[in-house]
Amino acid sequence: MPKTPAPATASKTDNPFFTPSPLAYGTPPFDRITDEHYLPAFEEGMRQHAAEVRTIADSKQPPTFANTIEALERSGALLTRVSKVFFNLTESNTNPKIQAIQSTVAPLLAAHQDTIYLDAPLFARIRAIHDARAELTEPEQQRLIERYHTNFVRNGALLGPADQARLRKINEEQSTLTTKFQERLLADTKALAVLVENKDQLRGLDDSAISAAADAAAAAGKPGKFLLPLQLPSSQGVLSSLQDRATRQRVYEASLSRCDRGNENDTKELVLRLAALRAERAQLLGYPNHAAYVLADQMAGTPAAVNKMLTGMAPAIVQKANTEAAELQTWLDQNEPGTRLAPWDWSFVAEQVRKQRYDFDEAEVKQYFELDSVLQNGVFFMARQMYGIELHERKDLPVYHPDVRVFEVFDGATGNGDGSSIGLFYADYYARPEKRGGAWMDNFVDQSGLLGQKPVVVNVLSIGKPSAGQPTLVTFDEVTTLFHEFGHGVHGLFSKVRYPMISGTSVPRDFVEFPSQFHEDFAFDPAVLGRCARHWQTGAPMPKELIEKVRRARTFGQGFGSLEYIEAALLDMAWHSLPAGTEVKDVDAFEAEALRKAGVAHALVPPRYRTTYFSHVWPGGYSAGYYAYLWSEALAADAFAAVMERGGMTGENGAAFRDAVLSRGLTREPMQMFAAFRGRELDTQALLRRRGLL
Ligand SMILES: [Zn+2]
Repeated sequence: MPKTPAPATASKTDNPFFTPSPLAYGTPPFDRITDEHYLPAFEEGMRQHAAEVRTIADSKQPPTFANTIEALERSGALLTRVSKVFFNLTESNTNPKIQAIQSTVAPLLAAHQDTIYLDAPLFARIRAIHDARAELTEPEQQRLIERYHTNFVRNGALLGPADQARLRKINEEQSTLTTKFQERLLADTKALAVLVENKDQLRGLDDSAISAAADAAAAAGKPGKFLLPLQLPSSQGVLSSLQDRATRQRVYEASLSRCDRGNENDTKELVLRLAALRAERAQLLGYPNHAAYVLADQMAGTPAAVNKMLTGMAPAIVQKANTEAAELQTWLDQNEPGTRLAPWDWSFVAEQVRKQRYDFDEAEVKQYFELDSVLQNGVFFMARQMYGIELHERKDLPVYHPDVRVFEVFDGATGNGDGSSIGLFYADYYARPEKRGGAWMDNFVDQSGLLGQKPVVVNVLSIGKPSAGQPTLVTFDEVTTLFHEFGHGVHGLFSKVRYPMISGTSVPRDFVEFPSQFHEDFAFDPAVLGRCARHWQTGAPMPKELIEKVRRARTFGQGFGSLEYIEAALLDMAWHSLPAGTEVKDVDAFEAEALRKAGVAHALVPPRYRTTYFSHVWPGGYSAGYYAYLWSEALAADAFAAVMERGGMTGENGAAFRDAVLSRGLTREPMQMFAAFRGRELDTQALLRRRGLL
């Protein structure tokens, strides 16, 4: 890639980003976009955006909502067009060229953002409009000016020059420390791979896992032995199959000791420094601690609200975990008399109990879930029943990979709608090497009344692609994922908002997983399963007993899963609730005390992440935010309970949810949207039931 791109003028004529897309819904002209177009489009996009912002900031006209806020909402069109395509493809269809462009562009974009946030004349205009916000007649305009003001203030716009300089220093040091944290975690995880002398100690693992361990040992200069590498996520998958207790214990202890061994990979000093810097930044910005700073901009609002939810659920969760421990001990008493359950036994024994109780063959279940049937007779069927919408495939629009399908979405004649078009839904379901794993939703075009844009959304999954001519059979887990992502999809599609900054799924992270997890529950609906769960060859419906097993397996092990999760969430809250200047000497003692005080310390169930390897909250963007998954799930469970109370998958329930939540973007307070549908504020009992904890 050339360091100096071709002059913008040369590429203007043939660079498809430089003009609005001529295609329906302004959807990207993927057939005309090549990797060479990105960098010139980013550079020209930032240049144009900066010039537009300059004109707004330096205007001689007195600041008004229209000449400042609306003008900002309209600005940066080219930058938005290229960003939407580029940052989708870095996840779903990347290549070395795109990765190289990404590392060039990321710091440029960060600097571009900073320049705007620290633009004093611009902030003066925003502040004047914010001061006079009572005069704005449109509630959506009031919401939007609050967003702008909040974003600028949270980025330091109100600080004097010395404090702004300190803020920049803090951010810089933080980014260095988080990079170090990631490097040390990676190095220690690698260093802690468990060396096993003979094959017998690995019994229970399948042949491919054993030969992989043999290869790993050979590669590490220990031929004839076996090396079990630790996995980066929380728990170690091999613990559920290793039959040898001593090997389990070694893997478990290695896993818990990550970055806490006093060697060069230890992260304790980094963690202490990060906690101190975040507390100091919070104080600079006027908050008692980092958690208060983060939560002020989330639905939860305060650390107290988060702690109340987590500790409120703790007794039921601990009790369930204790019940599960007793069940596991019973299995041990019968099968390995004299053995006391230890933490390294938990996964293994739980797996034996699960097999005993719900034994079903995943391969057998898959025969009843063919992808297109799940989509048409499951997901789209639900969408028709609930929202009265119809999806029609369009083969004429260009896609970025041949596996991607495009559907045009209509308010169908069956619902309250008039058949008018809503937007486009892209479905990119197959795994491929150029796609990162997992599943997500995104927008190619954001809905906006101001810009006259209808939404273009995409769902991405990573389902294994069958060989040519074979059907795509999916697991039940993948079925629920299809519903989950479609839930994000309708949150984007049903948006009826004027301003792009607050449209669709642009909501706090403790709210954004609410519509998606809400829709997951429809995968269990008997009407949905009756239609879409059909044997791909014979068309026979899935046997009732098999459906029942799959259903019941959903809540198995939730005591353990919920406990290790809330331990980690409470630990995150404890670290980020420290006021500036607090001195913590002993990281491990702080961790133990935090768990004990919250009532979740458990001899058999450690937190999903211990402090020294909690990568979500130290380098990741989830500081004081790990609770958010559960918060969203509490909203989803409670809202879905309302659907069940009110007749299930009906047009009335769909219309009400669409009106209260899915169409609103962030034009209302999240709790207001939730309560408008539920008829009251959040009650976490439904979540306990959803997880089988009552
Ligand atoms: Zn999601």
